[in-house]
Amino acid sequence: MNGGAETVDVATRLADVHDGIAAAARASGRDPREITLVAVSKRKPAAMIRAAYAAGQRDFGENYAQELRDKARELEDLDALRWHFIGPFQSNKARLLVGRATLLHSVSEQRHLEAVAARAQSIGVEQRVLVQLNLSGESTKHGVAGATLAALLRASETLEGVRIEGLMTMPPADDDDVTARCFAELRVLRDAHGGVQRLPQLSMGMSHDYALAIAHGSTCVRVGTAIFGSR
Ligand SMILES: *Cc1c(COP(=O)(O)O)cnc(C)c1O
Repeated sequence: MNGGAETVDVATRLADVHDGIAAAARASGRDPREITLVAVSKRKPAAMIRAAYAAGQRDFGENYAQELRDKARELEDLDALRWHFIGPFQSNKARLLVGRATLLHSVSEQRHLEAVAARAQSIGVEQRVLVQLNLSGESTKHGVAGATLAALLRASETLEGVRIEGLMTMPPADDDDVTARCFAELRVLRDAHGGVQRLPQLSMGMSHDYALAIAHGSTCVRVGTAIFGSR
């Protein structure tokens, strides 16, 4: 593979996504600076992450705890790079992720919160997390139903070392109406549970639907394919 061409490619695609984010934000009267672009680098080599970093990208998303840990080690020379964990969370991965990821997007059970809190206390950090919601009702998707959110928020208040900062969802890929409904619903849930003061972050939107997500109030879009190419 030609490293030079790949670098240009990633930088160009990143610029295109930034343009897309800015256009979507303007269309709904929002400031593009409210929206964090997480570049999803799962299964992509460290060299591509370096290319994106060289083009100014600082937030990167990974789905697998081990892969995140290995890449964090390999790229530890890159100052101020922030890792986001977006894959299905398991309590036994807390050790690999707490303190290493700036934000865990996919907490969905009380025992996840407890595992994160225990690890955070033992290494003396506060871990920011999001609660992943399953709003499409698909059994193949991870996350909790909206009705469970209040209980998780209550549980987190009694735990040291873990802070729920918002909500995340991942609608099914193939139906725009369902996607729009899921995005709208995530925002309604946020507003019903303390609003933007209590839950400032809404992580929603991927390569094919980030503009729609921004129209629905997303503060964090997770974009892989549009930056790094297909996997
Ligand atoms: C892979 C993944 C993404 C990025 O998807 P693209 O379609 O490549 O942009 C975003 N969020 C989650 C949770 C993912 O697993």
